[in-house]
Amino acid sequence: MPLMKSWVTSANSPTTPFPLNNLPYGVFSQGEGEAHCGVAIGDMVLDVTRLEEAGLVVQGPDPVFDIPFWNDFMELGAEAWSAFRSRLTDLLAEGGSDELSGNAELTKAVLIPLTDVELHLPFAVSEFTDFYAGRHHATNVGTMFRGAENALPPNWLHIPIGYNGRASSVVVSGSDVRRPWGQLKPPTADKPHFAPCKRFDYELEMGAIVGQPSDGPVSVADADQMIFGYVLLNDWSARDIQAWEYQPLGPFQAKATATTISPWIVTRAALEPFRVDTPTREVELLDHLKDAGPMLYDIDLEVTLTPQGGDTATRLTRTNYREMYYSSAQQLTHHASSGCPMNVGDLLGSGTISGPEKANRGSLLELSWGGKEPVTLDTGETRSFLEDGDTLSMTGHAQGDGYRIGFGEALGKILPALER
Ligand code: MN
Repeated sequence: MPLMKSWVTSANSPTTPFPLNNLPYGVFSQGEGEAHCGVAIGDMVLDVTRLEEAGLVVQGPDPVFDIPFWNDFMELGAEAWSAFRSRLTDLLAEGGSDELSGNAELTKAVLIPLTDVELHLPFAVSEFTDFYAGRHHATNVGTMFRGAENALPPNWLHIPIGYNGRASSVVVSGSDVRRPWGQLKPPTADKPHFAPCKRFDYELEMGAIVGQPSDGPVSVADADQMIFGYVLLNDWSARDIQAWEYQPLGPFQAKATATTISPWIVTRAALEPFRVDTPTREVELLDHLKDAGPMLYDIDLEVTLTPQGGDTATRLTRTNYREMYYSSAQQLTHHASSGCPMNVGDLLGSGTISGPEKANRGSLLELSWGGKEPVTLDTGETRSFLEDGDTLSMTGHAQGDGYRIGFGEALGKILPALER
């Protein structure tokens, strides 16, 4: 599918993240104004809360955009998702309906430059689960801790391993992240102490947003249809806290400080042209988890680090979402396989997305190989783990024929630990 042209001319650039083909969903506010639901188009945001008030988009007898979250809209289901997307396309397309483009006063009121707005969490996070479903990442980490022979745990090729995280920890891009305190026990010490984390790290992930509920097990094909869209996700990780606390129930405080997501929900509909298969299976999956079609996406991902006060961003990671071993649909199927009810607004972290080469590693733990091989930044400084004042930025896009489906940015700056 080629670029779809819009009368919002900035949306026709081959490098804008937000062409008419994308239409990602977010929440924004302007000055002291209240937060509204919006759709990114070129370098503008379309205020759909006002568009609904004006009667130009109608979802039924009751408004769904009067609350600044996309949850009420997600609840309406696939037919409504598709009808709304068609309606937006018609209103914004070159040669489409002139109900908006022909009304200068309304256009001025509902099309706002992105540079003038503040972005918020696009949906109310119901619950958050994080997985460990990238094979390169699991192999790298496992090799460091258990040796190459035992890198993957025995269950790894059979189930997407995960843990239940905290919805309350999820923050939108731009939120500062404070270095956590925690119990640390270096291997050489005979007892633990309580101190600021010394091995604070990022994890490059994608987040899948559940848009329809389940009550009982779901097939992989049905799980795919339950997913509303995707965001970039940074699963900030305190490696030293994790090393001491994780056995036998997995990460707890190590992952509870913050989880940063990008502000725009890129819909499954926008990503359709970019579907790719999961990698070849070394071990055949059990029937309930078997692939039911291509359910990963070809999305280029990048991470940069900018030290305090600097303007030089060093690229740390360049990888692709297609490197995952399990799709989000398979993760959702596994999640629901016990009968665990899944809710609208549930967020599923993919697991760190590393690729086969060193340049593809999606965390500093892997890049510095546990701190043994510090990374040299373009400024000449080195990093084994994140330092106070560092700003981490994740970006991503799918490359179409003359257009991009962009995600925006998941950015966070590290603040020093609290004084105690
Ligand atoms: Mn993670």
